[in-house]
Amino acid sequence: MQKEPKHSACEKQQARALGQSPWWHNTIVQGLCACCQRHSHPNELTMDHIVPLAWGGRSTKGHMVLCCPMCTKKYWKPAELLLQHFRERDPR
Ligand SMILES: [Zn+2]
Repeated sequence: MQKEPKHSACEKQQARALGQSPWWHNTIVQGLCACCQRHSHPNELTMDHIVPLAWGGRSTKGHMVLCCPMCTKKYWKPAELLLQHFRERDPR
């Protein structure tokens, strides 16, 4: 399988644009980490892709989450943690 460097570059640009959108501004003022559900100072939170761009993730509203520095360090990717949340909520 061939890599698509263009995809990544394009999505990064989109992520940057999204970071300046009113939607993102609203999200960040709430200061809620999507991983641990704790409040942090907006300045400390970072925008993370639920699915990494290298995996074909997209830079759209539904695919971006806010992560506190602790979670960013702790978990490799938010997708991992969100999946865990879904499993806990809906155990099979
Ligand atoms: Zn967190």
